[in-house]
Amino acid sequence: MSDIAPPTLDLRAATIAVRVRAGELSAAQVVDDYLAAIDAHETDVHAFNLVLTDEARARAAAVDDAVAAGDDVGPLAGVPVALKDNMCTRGVPTTCSSKILEGWRPPYDATIVDRLRDAGAVVIGKTNLDEFAMGSSTENSAFGRTNNPLDVTRVPGGSSGGSAASVAAGFAPLALGSDTGGSIRQPAALCGVVGVKPTYGAVSRLGLVAFASSLDQIGPFAHDVADAALVLEAISGHDPGDSTSIDQGPLELTTVLEHGVDGMRIGRITDLPEGADPDVVERVDQAFAALADAGATIIDVSVPAFGYGLTAYYLIAPAEASSNLARYDGVRFGMRAEAPDTNAMYIATRTEGFGAEVKRRIMLGTYALSAGYYDAYYGRALKVRRRIAQDFAAAYAQVDALVMPASPSVAFRAGDKTADPMSMYLCDTYTIPANLTGEPAMSVPFGTGADGLPVGVQIITPALHDARMFQVAAELERRAPAS
Ligand code: GLN
Repeated sequence: MSDIAPPTLDLRAATIAVRVRAGELSAAQVVDDYLAAIDAHETDVHAFNLVLTDEARARAAAVDDAVAAGDDVGPLAGVPVALKDNMCTRGVPTTCSSKILEGWRPPYDATIVDRLRDAGAVVIGKTNLDEFAMGSSTENSAFGRTNNPLDVTRVPGGSSGGSAASVAAGFAPLALGSDTGGSIRQPAALCGVVGVKPTYGAVSRLGLVAFASSLDQIGPFAHDVADAALVLEAISGHDPGDSTSIDQGPLELTTVLEHGVDGMRIGRITDLPEGADPDVVERVDQAFAALADAGATIIDVSVPAFGYGLTAYYLIAPAEASSNLARYDGVRFGMRAEAPDTNAMYIATRTEGFGAEVKRRIMLGTYALSAGYYDAYYGRALKVRRRIAQDFAAAYAQVDALVMPASPSVAFRAGDKTADPMSMYLCDTYTIPANLTGEPAMSVPFGTGADGLPVGVQIITPALHDARMFQVAAELERRAPAS
C-alpha cells in the first residue's frame, strides 16, 4: 500500500469486498478511511451512539491476515457496516437509545452479527434511533437527535435514522436497521439511500430487541440496489434460534438485478390514502412511466383496506410493545432507580428510564389489551389486519408488484412534528401495510422533490418474492432522474 492511499469512501461495498479479497486493498485502509470520515463529520450528523474504533481496526486486521493466509473471507470482506443500536453485540453496550438500558451489555451477538462476521464484514458502530424504535424522525432518542446529512436542519427520518444517515454521510457503505412500520424505508427515502424490509421471517431477529414481534424485521441500507442485495443475501436464511424464521436458505438477489421488468405487471393503487406531497406524487408518476418504458404494464388496482393500516398498526404495535417492554423493570436489564420497596423501584425505574413516546405507546397498548376493551380494539385491529392481507392478495391476482411513495414528503425540519404525535404517525401511512402483511417492501431513491431533497419510491411484492422486488428496484435505479 502507498502511504497516501486514496480514500475508499466512493467505492461500493461490492467493489470493496472484491478488492479486499483479491488483496488489492487492505481492510485496515478501508476502516481507517471511514473512521476519518466519521471523525470529520460526526459532530454535525450524530449518526452513532458508539463508534467501535478499536474493535473495527482489530477486525479489519484479522480480515487482512485471513486474506494473506489465502482464506476465503466472504462476500463482504472488509466492508464496514453500521448497526442500529437495538441489535445485540456481545459485551458492547446496546441501548435502544433509551436511558433504561444504561450499562447493559448483551451476553451474546445477534444472529445478524454472526452472519456479518462470517461474511467478512466489519461492524464499525452502533447507530442512533428513536427510543425502542418508536418514531419517524430519530428525535425520540434519549441521546439527542440525528441530523440529515443532506441538510442538518432536517431529520433523517426514523426510527433507523442513525443507520440511514451513516450511509448517506459516507460513514459506512452499509448499515442495518429494523422496520416495524416503516423504520427502514422512510429514513432511506429521506436520506436518499436504498432501504429494504425483507419478507417477515427472511432475516433472523435473534438478538434484535423486540418492539412489536409480529411486525419487526431487520434489513439493510445501502447506496445502491446491488449492495443492498449483497448484504441481504449474507444475513438472510433460516435460523433455528428464531421461531419466526422461515425454513429456507438465504435469499438469492444479486443474480436477478439485470433481468429488467419486460412483461411485468406493475400495480398502481387507485384508492391509496391521500396525503403525499405533490413533489413526491410527481416522482412516483415518473417511476410508473419509467417502468412502462422498460416494458412493464401498469395496471390500476384497488386495495380498499390500505387506508386502515395506520389505525390497526397503532393498536397492534403498542399492544405488542406494552408486553415486550414489561421486562424493563430495573431487575434484569440496565438502570435501576433507588426506592424503598420493590414495587416503588419498578415504578421509579420505568418513570425515569422511559421517554415520553415509549410511555405513550405502553399506555396505548395496555389500554387496547385491557379487559372489556380487548375485543373492541385489539381484536378488531387483527380483523383489519387480515382484511388488508386479503385485499393485497386480491391485487396480486392482477399484478406482480405494487409501486407507491415510501414517505408522504421529503425530509422535514427538526421540530416540525414533535408537538403533534399524529402528524408524526402519518409519516408511516404508506409503509405500514407491508408490515401488517409481512410482505417485502423497499425504498429506492428516484430523483428529488422540494428543496432538492431526495424522493423514495416504494416497491412491494408478495411474501417470499423479494427477488422480484429487487428486479423492479434495479430497473428504477437505472432509470432514476439525475436530480
Ligand atoms: N414510525 C413507526 C412507529 O413509530 C414505525 C417504527 C418502526 O418501524 N420501528 O412505530
